[in-house]
Amino acid sequence: MIAKIQSVRGMNDILPDEAEFWDQFEETIRSWLKSYGYRPLRLPIVEPTPLFKRAIGEVTDIVEKEMYSFVDSLNGEPLTLRPEGTAGCVRAVIQHNLIAQQPQRLYYLGQMFRHERPQKGRYRQFHQVGVEALGFPGPDIDAEQILMGARLWDDLGLEGITLQLNTLGQPAERACHRAELIRYFEEHKEALDDDGRRRLYTNPLRILDSKNPALHDIIVGAPRLIDHLGVESLAHFEGVQQVLRDAGLPFQINPRLVRGLDYYNLTVYEWLTDRLGAQGTVCAGGRYDGLVQQLGGKPAPACGFAMGVERLLALIREAGGEARAAAIDVYVVHQGSAASRLAARVAEGLRDHGIDVLFHCGGGSFKTQMKKADASGAAFAVIIGDDEANAGEVTLKPMHPLGEQPNEQTRVRVDDLADAIISSILNQEDS
Ligand code: ATP
Ligand code: MG
Repeated sequence: MIAKIQSVRGMNDILPDEAEFWDQFEETIRSWLKSYGYRPLRLPIVEPTPLFKRAIGEVTDIVEKEMYSFVDSLNGEPLTLRPEGTAGCVRAVIQHNLIAQQPQRLYYLGQMFRHERPQKGRYRQFHQVGVEALGFPGPDIDAEQILMGARLWDDLGLEGITLQLNTLGQPAERACHRAELIRYFEEHKEALDDDGRRRLYTNPLRILDSKNPALHDIIVGAPRLIDHLGVESLAHFEGVQQVLRDAGLPFQINPRLVRGLDYYNLTVYEWLTDRLGAQGTVCAGGRYDGLVQQLGGKPAPACGFAMGVERLLALIREAGGEARAAAIDVYVVHQGSAASRLAARVAEGLRDHGIDVLFHCGGGSFKTQMKKADASGAAFAVIIGDDEANAGEVTLKPMHPLGEQPNEQTRVRVDDLADAIISSILNQEDS
């Protein structure tokens, strides 16, 4: 036997039952985004490695240990499978001069790649919906993006997703805080883990983001950035909170929330659930005013968020949301050469009317074909034998009659078939 080849660890196949569930989710996502005026972008999955190093920051989990990077064997260019979407989005915005005339509300949806330890809710290939607004400086857009989240949870029928909010101030304010933070962690050096000691002088803020429970107590006692903020940063933070309060949206301020990427400033937030175990962050975002310039563009403010699709779908399932079975309308059963030729034309004719048709392929007796028709879940079987073909008719058989409707088959002229099916479907919907 030839050995089977398996998918890469942490990279999952999404099979039809699951994929239909994804399609429905994406439909909801696209109409929700459209209702806020966001427009789609489709971006490459591979980008030059320096893009992520510059955007995300060298001393971050992603750049230090999670990127799938490789050298293009044809031209030696360092490339990386995108670990997140913001960097590529900003690169594209700069490259195509998208915000020269007016600010933009943009979104994208797709695979991201991170070399992490696979576990529930954490994969090496996963999907994000990324939402970015570029060119808006004020707290109004931050707040609007947060309210968008709240509306989506509602649209998806999800409850108990809570909001944690913080501000990271501006780089100069962070520098003050950083010095104090280093002094504090130096005093507690023995309590730090390896990552913490390594980041002490390169990126001490990141220690606050540690997932190591052993560090919890010293992190809680650490100096707070908010005590170093000036009036403008505080006013921006207050501006965001004001809109949230006006909208009646509850939130919790978490001074230790720093986010895993370097590009954030001012507003940062996460949406959390306690129903998915350890991987409870379903959405995270904030402002990144420095990034456009950092990637070579004319300075422009920006803010955005990304949602983990796998985690949201797990949550929808957990809340009892099920996929609608993708219903097929008609299964065409046929036998005999004249009948089969007519059947192929009938199937195409029904599709002309917008009716979904499974055409039986592979021959077999009427009995085996009818079994397949039954198993397909089709609402009707259209049966064509030589008898029907000679008369220019078909037999129409309802497969899953609703309520009192009798399960009787009828002979219908080929020309009347589409109408008969459509009016029967409409009748079923009415009853
Ligand atoms: P975490 O703290 O869980 O590692 P993160 O801060 O690295 O998350 P972001 O970079 O902010 O995550 O990505 C936004 C969202 O994408 C996360 O909130 C999460 O829902 C999802 N996500 C991130 N990494 C993964 C992964 N490896 N597998 C599945 N979903 C993920
Ligand atoms: Mg991570």
